[in-house]
Amino acid sequence: MAYDTNNIFARILRGEIPCGKVYEDDQVLAFNDINAQAPTHILVIPKGAYVSMTDFASKASPAEQTAFFAAIGKIVAEKKLDDAGYRVIANAGLHGGQEVPHFHMHILGGRGLGRMLPEAA
Ligand code: 5GP
Repeated sequence: MAYDTNNIFARILRGEIPCGKVYEDDQVLAFNDINAQAPTHILVIPKGAYVSMTDFASKASPAEQTAFFAAIGKIVAEKKLDDAGYRVIANAGLHGGQEVPHFHMHILGGRGLGRMLPEAA
């Protein structure tokens, strides 16, 4: 899938739409999800234009990949999520339920998150 330069996260990166910023460095931006599913619900995005985890893993430089996962670690530490635990999710494509086609990972915590997936119908 080609990268859509007008997706909502691209617009946040360009400063066209505000976000509740949690973390930023040269390669990574993180902000609160607008529709939080848990007391802590943070979206972590690379600043580069990648559609999905697959796209990021195959095209991002080692420095970008390291920075991305290091940022998740820093945020988890900053939010003190390690002791009680947390969940990190990346949705991709139709079956993954991805709504925004700019690669991102969700960090969720602050309450028991239950099973990873609902029971199959
Ligand atoms: P996905 O389903 O693509 O993995 O998740 C996209 C997430 O982006 C959703 O949890 C949704 O609530 C969040 N989101 C969509 N639009 C905005 C926005 O304009 N600002 C913020 N902060 N989050 C958004």
